[in-house]
Amino acid sequence: MKQAGIYIEMENNRVKDTSLGMITLAARADVFLYALVLDGVDDSTRQNLAEYGINTIVDMPLADDPQIRRNPAVRAGAIADAARELKLDTIFGLSTAEGKDIIPRVAAMMDVPLVMDCLDVNLEKNIARTSQYSGKVMADIQLTGSVIIFGIRPNAVQPVPAPAQAQTITLTLDTTVPANLSLLSWDDGEDGGRISLAEADIIIAGGRGLKNKENFSLIFECAGKMNAAVGASRVAVDEGWVPYACQVGQTGEKVSPQVYIACGISGSIQHFAGMKTAKMIIAVNKDENAAIMAHCDYHVQGDLFEILPELIKQL
Ligand SMILES: Cc1cc2nc3c(=O)[nH]c(=O)nc-3n(C[C@H](O)[C@H](O)[C@H](O)COP(=O)(O)OP(=O)(O)OC[C@H]3O[C@@H](n4cnc5c(N)ncnc54)[C@H](O)[C@@H]3O)c2cc1C
Repeated sequence: MKQAGIYIEMENNRVKDTSLGMITLAARADVFLYALVLDGVDDSTRQNLAEYGINTIVDMPLADDPQIRRNPAVRAGAIADAARELKLDTIFGLSTAEGKDIIPRVAAMMDVPLVMDCLDVNLEKNIARTSQYSGKVMADIQLTGSVIIFGIRPNAVQPVPAPAQAQTITLTLDTTVPANLSLLSWDDGEDGGRISLAEADIIIAGGRGLKNKENFSLIFECAGKMNAAVGASRVAVDEGWVPYACQVGQTGEKVSPQVYIACGISGSIQHFAGMKTAKMIIAVNKDENAAIMAHCDYHVQGDLFEILPELIKQL
């Protein structure tokens, strides 16, 4: 039986839903599942992980000192140590901002193969499905090696409960901060506190049709009412209406939300490259011939300056 470790990301002391989705993905195979937790295991974390099918929770508490807790080299070293100690053959992490910082470091430290941004994984055959060349082709990539690592696109798989009896073990880690890497500061970014684009269930995005920065407040207001994240086309970012972190597309964030609402966005191939795996796409556009109108599940043809205020009112 395979032995897989899942690097669990937490937010506000809760296991992120996207981490639970990873467990569901891994549990499709005949596999013994370890949850690798660096941010503390309380009762609700324990219950939550057991409910989704974890067999053993590995509590690896890091010291509160941000120099240790937030240092990506320390976190990656902890995962690599756990993988060796537990003799894992597979490691799962997320292709989130945090995952992208940690998981490739683990691969480098262990000198093992890695595929990031996987949309699906066949664990029996060690095959990862990824989107390539701006979404024009899907590639199945087979990994070989004694240990392999998959970085999963957030929301690629919805979490499904599959209760298991989870035991908890504690691993004591070597948390020596490497001499060549020290953390100077930590903040939550200019849009700190907002919902992460990569992990959001709902995204509402704006493009050139918004016309200026002030009008983007319509998008932010809708997002607030729907508990959604705010996305944007590259035009909106290049114009300075929203930060680069909001850009969706080939050269921006790749997202797979349940619902993607594109307002005043034409639907260029470069934009589609970042959001075509959304489960439902809704377009708001005044041009019935805009590319996005032919490639969405629902569209509202009309002026977004009439439609968005009405949507806000209804919400
Ligand atoms: C190498 C490369 C990489 C790129 N990477 C990206 C990327 O990552 N992400 C990305 O988005 N783009 C990317 N682009 C740019 C891309 O080609 C398009 O230029 C861009 O996506 C267009 O943005 P837009 O849809 O906001 O603007 P437009 O194409 O100008 O579309 C604006 C839309 O708004 C509609 N509209 C206008 N007014 C209203 C109104 N009042 N109500 C309703 N609808 C209205 C119009 O009908 C139109 O369809 C890239 C380009 C290149 C060459």
